[in-house]
Amino acid sequence: MKISKKMSDVGTAIIGGGVVGLAVAAKLSASRQSVVVLEKNDHYGMETSSRNSEVIHAGIYYTPGSLKAKLCVEGRDEIYSLCRKHDIPYKEITKLITAADASELGKLESIYNNGLKNGIPLEIIDRRATLKLEPNIRTVGSIYSPLTGIVSAHGLMDYFYRTFLEHGGTLQLRCEVIAIEKLSSVYQITVREGSEESTFTSDVVINAAGLFADKIAALVGIDVDKAGYRQFFAKGSYFSMIPSKAKLVSRLVYPVPKDEGLGVHALIDWGGRLKFGPDVEYLEDGTFDYSVAEEKRSAFAESIRRILPGIVNGDITPDMSGIRAKLQRKGEPPRDFLIVHEKERGLEGLVNLLGIDSPGLTSSPAIARHVENLLS
Ligand SMILES: Cc1cc2nc3c(=O)[nH]c(=O)nc-3n(C[C@H](O)[C@H](O)[C@H](O)COP(=O)(O)OP(=O)(O)OC[C@H]3O[C@@H](n4cnc5c(N)ncnc54)[C@H](O)[C@@H]3O)c2cc1C
Repeated sequence: MKISKKMSDVGTAIIGGGVVGLAVAAKLSASRQSVVVLEKNDHYGMETSSRNSEVIHAGIYYTPGSLKAKLCVEGRDEIYSLCRKHDIPYKEITKLITAADASELGKLESIYNNGLKNGIPLEIIDRRATLKLEPNIRTVGSIYSPLTGIVSAHGLMDYFYRTFLEHGGTLQLRCEVIAIEKLSSVYQITVREGSEESTFTSDVVINAAGLFADKIAALVGIDVDKAGYRQFFAKGSYFSMIPSKAKLVSRLVYPVPKDEGLGVHALIDWGGRLKFGPDVEYLEDGTFDYSVAEEKRSAFAESIRRILPGIVNGDITPDMSGIRAKLQRKGEPPRDFLIVHEKERGLEGLVNLLGIDSPGLTSSPAIARHVENLLS
């Protein structure tokens, strides 16, 4: 292993070029000198940020008062306004959460009430009104969410990246952070670029490493189990509908959620394809395999029939998948985003972002503002 000389020291190092790292980079570089994003892949946005539903969530499901509820609502409004101003592809496609039978109406009402507590404009509509919007779905009544939309995740990341560059920031690709040490007033960061390792210092370190954020926290010496920072991984797979049935719905259609996750739902991607997903499959060994198992076909078709009763197993094909970083094990109650300026651990200037699962894409600009506030 060749050890090269020191890279130049910087003011702020952001670990991770996903949508969160890039949003934070765009924000902090507006007022700070010498901000660098360190990304281990060949391009930014190659992990979770490009493997999701691209939904601009309205903020319906999250616990009132939680960071997820607050940052989702703020981020949603900011994303719509950024999209309009900067030509980022988006659609105000709207969404239905629909009850397949009368037994689901109680749960539907409690989701509606939760959404109202979060200040989300929602409407309960009956079967007839639902069928006027979506004539092909199985329904006894729905929640209509006018503020739910879709955004091009790549378009949004490209915008954050351009803004960051305009502010004089630097993105260092193929640059993996492998060690971090707190010196008296700065952090010494060791990175691996190909076969070379080098070190430099940074006054501020933002850990936005997504699936690897707990590993980064551990590098700084935090006991992730004791701190409650250990991440668990829940894969979400998607199946796509054959083109002849791709027009069966025209907006996002979600079931009433049964277990973890929001339930396999219908979404329309940028190519006009109708997709269904994501399911929730906890990965036991932490290996990130993005292939979609053919064996899931029957279970998917079964879930889809809750929304579209006429679908047969042969109508769908395995599509893409993404992996969520969660702070709870399978079966445990959902935890909030964890965004901490680690002053109390004697780690002034280090901000850890962990468990940034959904609605992380929607919340990204608001997360960036939150991080800036934590540092001020
Ligand atoms: C199936 C699925 C569906 C979802 N749907 C939605 C949705 O519809 N709407 C929504 O709002 N949210 C959704 N989300 C959540 C959203 O995708 C995430 O919250 C968001 O993408 C997280 O972004 P991130 O930047 O934290 O992570 P990432 O995109 O994973 O970025 C982290 C980056 O850090 C880099 N990195 C890691 N370790 C190192 C290291 N040591 N050195 C250098 N670089 C490193 C990685 O290479 C990666 O590029 C979904 C998630 C999944 C999995």
